[in-house]
Amino acid sequence: MTGKVLPLRKCVACGQMIPKDQLFRVVRVDGKVQLDLSQKAQGRGAWVCKNPQCVALAEKKKSFNRAFKTPVSEEVINSIKMELENGSR
Ligand SMILES: [Zn+2]
Repeated sequence: MTGKVLPLRKCVACGQMIPKDQLFRVVRVDGKVQLDLSQKAQGRGAWVCKNPQCVALAEKKKSFNRAFKTPVSEEVINSIKMELENGSR
């Protein structure tokens, strides 16, 4: 095994530890929850796999609401879905 080892983060949907580059980061900044494509925003973060199954599951289980202990607007899930459709990595 060679190469850079990426830090692992836990997906809120499937509960697995996944390398950061295979996850979307959602962050709470000043009480507002939003998608953090830079993965560098200050604040409490939660992570979900870059696959439609996990995103759908996170939406269904309201995993982000639980992770942040606050209602999360569906805009957040919608923007993640949009990123998935755009195929951004
Ligand atoms: Zn997952």
